[in-house]
Amino acid sequence: MGLTRKRVLVTGGAGFLGSHLCGKLIDAGNDVLCVDNYFTGRKDNIAHLLGKPQFEAMRYDVTFPLYVEVDEIYNLACPASPIHYQFDPVQTTKTSVIGAINMLGLAKRVKAKILQASTSEVYGDPTIHPQTEEYRGNVNPLGPRACYDEGKRAAETLFFDYWRQHRTRIKVVRIFNTYGPRMHPNDGRVVSNFIVQALRGEPITLYGDGSQTRAFCFVSDLVEGFMRLMATDDEVTGPVNIGNPHEIPVRELAERIVRLTGSSSTIVYRPLPQDDPTQRCPDISLARRLLGWEPTVKLDDGLARTIDYFSTLLAERS
Ligand code: NAD
Ligand code: UDP
Repeated sequence: MGLTRKRVLVTGGAGFLGSHLCGKLIDAGNDVLCVDNYFTGRKDNIAHLLGKPQFEAMRYDVTFPLYVEVDEIYNLACPASPIHYQFDPVQTTKTSVIGAINMLGLAKRVKAKILQASTSEVYGDPTIHPQTEEYRGNVNPLGPRACYDEGKRAAETLFFDYWRQHRTRIKVVRIFNTYGPRMHPNDGRVVSNFIVQALRGEPITLYGDGSQTRAFCFVSDLVEGFMRLMATDDEVTGPVNIGNPHEIPVRELAERIVRLTGSSSTIVYRPLPQDDPTQRCPDISLARRLLGWEPTVKLDDGLARTIDYFSTLLAERS
């Protein structure tokens, strides 16, 4: 193997995004250590990697200190779906904050580069649109989403304090809604919910009137953005928005999925969850400039690939 082969730690590596990242890192010739407590991740997501000598999986909770020797760390461990991060909110904050402290401590000790999977949720229910990295956000610190939003904000603070205080080589990505194969069928997020409901011919559960907007990025585009940011010089810390700026109302997403699946499902309206952001769309000027990155997968193409994945999964289970 060439001189660029690195030892890379991916926390949350058995989750949706983490499993795609592990695969890409191995394809690029690296050794990958996947650390996951399988709270929302699944061994099935990494089953195809388990036989490879460059891949190792470890069941571990990042709220405990970890002692390994690595060159790079991607810190993804944290439930991402509202129903999962609200299931045990105290544990969600612990995972974000104590997990960040532990992984930053590891990065400092072994002088590794470390990338934090932050989120557009740091902007809360945004009052500027689209969201730029300078925007400081509008988060309710007391609401049901706060365990996640404030946990991720505190993690960003820790990353920048480690950078200022210890010169730890940090990279912070603010991820906007990302979808694709290997989302959990019961994940609760909108794309997986709508596709599974459409494929089963069940009613599509639209929260609120469906006028709230989101912008959806396909997983392969996101992983490319991660790896480009990790490869930048040490001066480049972020935060950098990574997401697809093609914004649509959630109602339109439901209609598209019904059309693409050829489903007979009807739409049923459910109450809008508390603090559900009314609009969200990334300004990706910085990612374009710094990384030469922009998304390449169109929404209908990404949805078609995700529908194929769930069709196969549901057929295997029936
Ligand atoms: P996911 O739930 O599929 O993956 C999270 C993984 O972290 C799971 O495998 C889970 O088992 C693991 N995990 C949770 N707590 C842990 C702990 N204490 N110790 C070790 N492992 C733990 O979600 P995802 O969509 O793959 O998200 C990955 C990361 O990206 C998360 O940090 C999330 O906040 C961030 N993110 C994702 C999105 C998105 O749209 N997918 C958007 C914004 C931010
Ligand atoms: N949503 C919905 N029906 C569902 C799941 C989600 O209408 O079955 C809505 C949700 O209220 C939000 C949007 O879809 O406005 C995106 O929700 P998701 O949980 O995927 O992520 P969020 O962006 O809110 O973190």
